[in-house]
Amino acid sequence: MTTLQAINGFKDILPDQIHLWQRLEATATDICRRFGMREIRTPILEKTELFVRSIGEATDVVEKEMYTFADKGLTMRPEATASIMRAFIEHGMHVQQPVQRLYTMGPMFRHERPQKGRLRQFHQFDAEIIGPTEPQQDAELIAMGHLLFSELGVKVSLELNSMGCPKCRPAFRQRLIAGLEGVQDQLCEDCRRRLHTNPLRVLDCKKPGCRALVADAPSIQDALCENCTSHFATLRDTLDLLGIPYNLNRFMVRGLDYYTRTTFEFVTDQLGAQSAVGGGGRYDGLIAELGGPAVSGIGFAIGMERLILLMEQNEKENSAALSDTDIYLAALGPEELKHCTLLAQFLRQQGLRVALDYSGRSLKAQMKIAGRMQAHYTLIVGEQEWAGKEAILRDMQTQQQGGFSLSGSPLEQSERLAVVLRAGSGKSDPA
Ligand code: AMP
Repeated sequence: MTTLQAINGFKDILPDQIHLWQRLEATATDICRRFGMREIRTPILEKTELFVRSIGEATDVVEKEMYTFADKGLTMRPEATASIMRAFIEHGMHVQQPVQRLYTMGPMFRHERPQKGRLRQFHQFDAEIIGPTEPQQDAELIAMGHLLFSELGVKVSLELNSMGCPKCRPAFRQRLIAGLEGVQDQLCEDCRRRLHTNPLRVLDCKKPGCRALVADAPSIQDALCENCTSHFATLRDTLDLLGIPYNLNRFMVRGLDYYTRTTFEFVTDQLGAQSAVGGGGRYDGLIAELGGPAVSGIGFAIGMERLILLMEQNEKENSAALSDTDIYLAALGPEELKHCTLLAQFLRQQGLRVALDYSGRSLKAQMKIAGRMQAHYTLIVGEQEWAGKEAILRDMQTQQQGGFSLSGSPLEQSERLAVVLRAGSGKSDPA
């Protein structure tokens, strides 16, 4: 019988990696709190129409990457913004509070060719601010992303562009088409098709041939209307004020149709072909387009797997081994084991991380287990220690050991032990 394996592009997140996920989730949650954002969780399945109408029919995501149950008209979400906007409209959230600052974290699904940093089920941390139109708000959201990377110790750079608005973009689009029509035979197959459906996408095609052809294309930043120009200028001034560096990148065109004005990407050169770690922008027409009120929005999505790859590289550099265990209790007989079972319960009630083994292994075998777990301490209770009412407490890092008195009730013993463990690991007593 063949053994079953996970689907290509769908990955298990194993316990060895979970500390990175938890650190990312905790840091993101805390930063969101500092920026006044509230969590929202939406379903994984939505009506296909939601994504077609919001992301746009002529985008890679909708054209070829969605997991759709065609007979049911349902799709597994490829991103979070559309679902959050649907929920915002459906629950009339703007009536309760005209400015909504929302975030979510969870799995997204896109049928792309899997490779390093590119999966079919991946996770995004997504943040959206609905309501405000001011460019300072765009800067604030970018600053929030920037803070996340810096608190996680990850280096990324920021690429910035403006996509204009329905007033100035159509003329730019026409100019771009006219300029590229002359060289259309030299464009790649995808770009030839995009030239009339989504010509801006040609600007950020990664193929060298197309890159050379658009090198002299007009810049959208020079084609912005007065309002878009001033919005973009204030955004840049605010980023300067906040000390957030950026590169102006007129070729950076985000893949989703709904963006207006500000678009940005956090990029890295440490992940090979997958340089984008996160990205976002302003979507001033999207909510009205989906049947909601005419309010603006701005958001970003950060790919959690890619961010974790970067965190992992850092961790390797720092080679900080993290211990999951404060103490390993090594009992060497039935009475001793009974005592350690109770001690473990009391220590865990006091918030400590405790491991013990019930299978009656030798001291040598148990010390090996404690070592593998990178336990800070081991308490050894053998026959002799039990008889003499004094166990051995060994600091596994320094290899120093001393006696630990087994007098008093097990609860008292656990309390005394907890004090030693907290002092040893530098942890303060939460009580
Ligand atoms: P997007 O919604 O396409 O702008 O993607 C936002 C972020 O999600 C990207 O910058 C990536 O970090 C991440 N991302 C998008 N697609 C994938 C994928 N197939 N696998 C892993 N991460 C992805």
